[in-house]
Amino acid sequence: MTFESNRHPLAAIAVALAALCAAGAAQAQSFNAVAPTPAQVRPAVDQAYTQLMAAPQIQKLLEAVKADHERSIEDLKMLTEIEAPPFKEQKRAEAFLARLKALGLADAKIDAEGNAIGIRKGSGNGPKLIISAHLDTVFPAGTDVKVKERDGKLHAPGISDDTRGLAVLLSWLKVLNDNKIRTVGDLVFVGNVGEEELGNLRGIKHIFAEHRDIDGMVGLEPVPDGGVLILGTGSHRYEFNFKGPGGHSFGAFGEVPSAIHGMGRAIAKIADIHTPSDPKTTFTVGTVSGGTSVNTIAPDARMAVDIRSNQMAPLLETEKKVLAAVDQAVAEENKRWNVNTLSVSNKLIGDRPGGMTPADSVIVEAAVRANTAFDRKSVLTGASTDANVPMSLGVPAIIIGGGGKTGGFHALSEWIDLTDAWKGAQSSLVTVLGLVGVEGVSQPLLEKRPPRAR
Ligand SMILES: [Zn+2]
Repeated sequence: MTFESNRHPLAAIAVALAALCAAGAAQAQSFNAVAPTPAQVRPAVDQAYTQLMAAPQIQKLLEAVKADHERSIEDLKMLTEIEAPPFKEQKRAEAFLARLKALGLADAKIDAEGNAIGIRKGSGNGPKLIISAHLDTVFPAGTDVKVKERDGKLHAPGISDDTRGLAVLLSWLKVLNDNKIRTVGDLVFVGNVGEEELGNLRGIKHIFAEHRDIDGMVGLEPVPDGGVLILGTGSHRYEFNFKGPGGHSFGAFGEVPSAIHGMGRAIAKIADIHTPSDPKTTFTVGTVSGGTSVNTIAPDARMAVDIRSNQMAPLLETEKKVLAAVDQAVAEENKRWNVNTLSVSNKLIGDRPGGMTPADSVIVEAAVRANTAFDRKSVLTGASTDANVPMSLGVPAIIIGGGGKTGGFHALSEWIDLTDAWKGAQSSLVTVLGLVGVEGVSQPLLEKRPPRAR
């Protein structure tokens, strides 16, 4: 996952993350509150978690999560040591699938996009909830992914983001089956591909395209205890290529347009675009290159533009303005020299939808109430994660942690401290159980939605 923007209140964590994150230095990383935590949750939510925490079979289940902690570390190490660069997650997907099957999801499979997916059926007529973690890491093939133990921590690229999430899903599956817990709704176990940058969320996009009847999603990521991600900043990124005939700066002057001048006109127009501050919407020309020599009218120029917003409408509006600015700039450069030999092409190089799950929605209140049951203070935060996809579709979605202290995401120095990490696995499991309901204990909180149209 990629954390967004930089504001209070856990600035110290932001600084620590930024310092650890050498490879991800281009991305500001922080853990900031994007909305106040609801002071109160609706009575139905409160009741469900009161019932769950009071039920002997749930207490026994939570003991089992703790007892499974050591064993789950073996899954964590095994999966971490199977490299999973973007678009090359297959081996790890197969290993995760084998574990899903071994732990009781006989019908689990790898789908057409490469996601490992298996459904643990509920008792019927309940909601369908995805619980997911991503298979891919940011690290290229050949990276040393051997897990090393040092200073009471496990060190390896990808171990916290997001292999810990995968291991927690497997542990949940095991304890639910061992303890014969019957949920009312269906739990869809997912180890998905394509979460990290170049993957553009292709795994979760595919799942939501294929499964129109999903009622919600709870993703696991290295979120600190109590963190509930409710905001998914969307982004569109473009590369623009300006092409002209080029020529001698003196000899061809007056006859040919300049790719660099044309791009300069475009940048000036983009720089003047206005965007709303709420929902926060931004743009930047991030990189430029081009030209042949100081005394050549440039035949080529390139720039990359990043557009982001916390909501889709202003994102698309800003994108439209950027595209129009570029076209207009090319037209002006051609007109300046009375030619039509300058052209521009663009390529969408980043495509992440965005959205927000309202702070007062049932799924958020559920996570907040479960945190309270485990004496945790909730912080509602934002980041760019798999949850961007359901959020953009209006399907309730949150990202929460699986326990453990983590750091160094996207850097070779990535680590996880699993001291008492089972507590995080417990509280997140309770969050999930409240949403789907448990036979004989609590009603599902998550509402069934009409299937989305194709
Ligand atoms: Zn992640």
